[in-house]
Amino acid sequence: MNGKLIPWHEATVHVLSHALHYGSSVFEGIRAYDTPRGAAVFRLQPHIERLLDSAKCYRMPVPYTFDQLSDACKQVVARNELRGAYIRPLIFRGQGTVSVIPKGQSHIDVCVVAFELGEYLGAGALENGIDCCVSSWHRVTSSSNPVLSKAGGHYTNAYLIGSEARANGFDEGISINSNGMVAEAAAANLFMVRKGVLYTPPIAASILGGITRDSVIRIAEDMGMTVVQEQLPRELLYICDELFLTGTAAEITPVRSVDRIPVGSGRPGPVTRTLQQAYFNIARGLATDHHGWLELVEEPTAVT
Ligand code: PMP
Repeated sequence: MNGKLIPWHEATVHVLSHALHYGSSVFEGIRAYDTPRGAAVFRLQPHIERLLDSAKCYRMPVPYTFDQLSDACKQVVARNELRGAYIRPLIFRGQGTVSVIPKGQSHIDVCVVAFELGEYLGAGALENGIDCCVSSWHRVTSSSNPVLSKAGGHYTNAYLIGSEARANGFDEGISINSNGMVAEAAAANLFMVRKGVLYTPPIAASILGGITRDSVIRIAEDMGMTVVQEQLPRELLYICDELFLTGTAAEITPVRSVDRIPVGSGRPGPVTRTLQQAYFNIARGLATDHHGWLELVEEPTAVT
């Protein structure tokens, strides 16, 4: 935290921290996987790039460099001796005057936390798929917020979408954007398969530019699949052959129904399974890392 490794229970903030009141934080969610060569962070570089871009949109000066932030992410995994981990870098406006626009010097705090995380959408979600609904809440839109930035304040929207879905007995909610087209899930991007073609909403659909989304597009293209990024109407959720969510936490989670209408056969389909397998094989270091997506948290010590 702020440049030092400190014990978990000491990583606290003051109640007057700006971010607590006004949501002025930007953050990342990154996974490290247990690979045969040791713990490795998956796509660290684009995550740190997005973190810095998020801060830029919110005019937050970041007191650390790209390399310092990257090193901190690797160090928290290594020093906690974690094999697989969820890494959470967080940059936020800390204690200052109580005012929306911070006066004078408002402190920017930076911390990186790492902990173990299993299946984000519940045990069995990756294998069996989940039940989703279309949310009554629209996705936060680019005309009011820089939605490409992963900012704390945007997550009141994700919270509403996700908690409404759960209160109504679903596992997750899917949001529609201000144009009435499909955006994404509460905290994951969305893909559909229809007649062998993979579809996903474009960046202009008010989505977060997911790094898992990018990985899936590249893996699918490597396999020779056609990937189309275009605005998708809601009804395609009901009539597509396969549907799945992508995210660092959600990984590749199949969706088996939307609004109680089964997706395809109501079971995870073959394209979803193939992409899921390919993704995990790369992340877990079991397939050749052609794209250079894995970064070991500790360099292997030279054998003398
Ligand atoms: N959309 C939202 C709103 C998210 O919070 C996330 C998780 N970061 C995603 C999409 C997926 O992004 P990524 O694949 O980079 O984790």
